[in-house]
Amino acid sequence: MVAVILPGNASCQGCPISMAMRCLDEIENPVLVIPAGCSTVIAGIHPNSAMKCPVVHSPFTAAPSVACGLSEAYKRMGVRANVIAWMGDGAVDISFSALSASAARKDDYITIVVDNEAYMNTGTQASLSTFWKARTTTSPAGKTEERRNIALLMLAHRIEYAATASVGYLRDLKRKFRKAGEMRGFRFIHVHAPCPPGWRFPSEKTVEVARKAVMSGAWILWEYDGEFRLSKEGERYALKENRIPLREYLKQGRFSHLDDKEIEELEKKIDEEWKTILKLF
Ligand code: SF4
Repeated sequence: MVAVILPGNASCQGCPISMAMRCLDEIENPVLVIPAGCSTVIAGIHPNSAMKCPVVHSPFTAAPSVACGLSEAYKRMGVRANVIAWMGDGAVDISFSALSASAARKDDYITIVVDNEAYMNTGTQASLSTFWKARTTTSPAGKTEERRNIALLMLAHRIEYAATASVGYLRDLKRKFRKAGEMRGFRFIHVHAPCPPGWRFPSEKTVEVARKAVMSGAWILWEYDGEFRLSKEGERYALKENRIPLREYLKQGRFSHLDDKEIEELEKKIDEEWKTILKLF
């Protein structure tokens, strides 16, 4: 295996996306399709590149279609490649109809969503993934809309592989990357990616914040490969008494406006999400 991403790239300090990119070494012959976003900047602009694998930069709406076409072209050329549509949650919002159609066709490539819960590259505007009540530049008093669960939506397409992961649990994340790389068909991994400047926490705390999301029950680690299961690293948090208090996770600038009542409302949302997940067994 070669290092897919080089040091000295253009990511911010403590960037969760570059952490997840380092785990791409687990996937054989990766070819990245990257729609506009932080990952575009990290990968670099021609003729320079931080990536040691082929990268195709695509328009926002087109990443699933480009990935599908590229995967089929490689097959016809007799080249074994793992095409990966590597996108943020903003690109999922914008390309969702193409992504959904591609999943329904069971196109043969991997989609990896590095979810930093807003449009960070353009100034932290809220996306459908933004956590309930989080402050962003388009929700200065806290987000009022629902938070969409992308991985559950993709699972509903009856795809071959679906999983959630976190940069706080890199061993689990690497295992899921490796597994997706060894399978064929439509594979989808949703990576929780706490962003220091966008969420307003110190850059050395990315892993700590990511772990607190899992330990408080706010991010659920699971996997589907024909059978649905909770991942070992997070299964104990199915029991509420094993979780840390949610307010530990909420120690981020984007939540500094919340009062006790609002935190209780968030706890209820999280309990509802766990109930939905636990019904999938
Ligand atoms: S804004 Fe956040 S996700 Fe984007 S490069 Fe910086 S740390 Fe990474």
